[in-house]
Amino acid sequence: MTTAAATSEWWREGACQSADPDMFFPISAHGAASAETRRAKRVCAGCQVRFECLEYALRTRQQHGIWGGTTEDERRLLQNRARKAAARQSARDRVASAAS
Ligand code: SF4
Repeated sequence: MTTAAATSEWWREGACQSADPDMFFPISAHGAASAETRRAKRVCAGCQVRFECLEYALRTRQQHGIWGGTTEDERRLLQNRARKAAARQSARDRVASAAS
């Protein structure tokens, strides 16, 4: 049997399906809205499709909201780290190729 988590409909199993949607799209991740962000992150922490949600947000470059337990700033940081790691690996591959 295929679960929704293993398909493109993973979101159907999201813990946020029964939560206040506004909590996942706070006005800001900072200041007064940070309490909403913390509440949303607590819901995400117990979500069975958290990794699918984060992967989707990163792949589709979701700019706003809480996805997979991350804020937009945290996702930007993850993407920057991934880009730097890819650039380092590419440089290593070029050095190894030139040396052989
Ligand atoms: S990780 Fe969070 S935002 Fe994503 S589906 Fe689960 S509860 Fe919703």
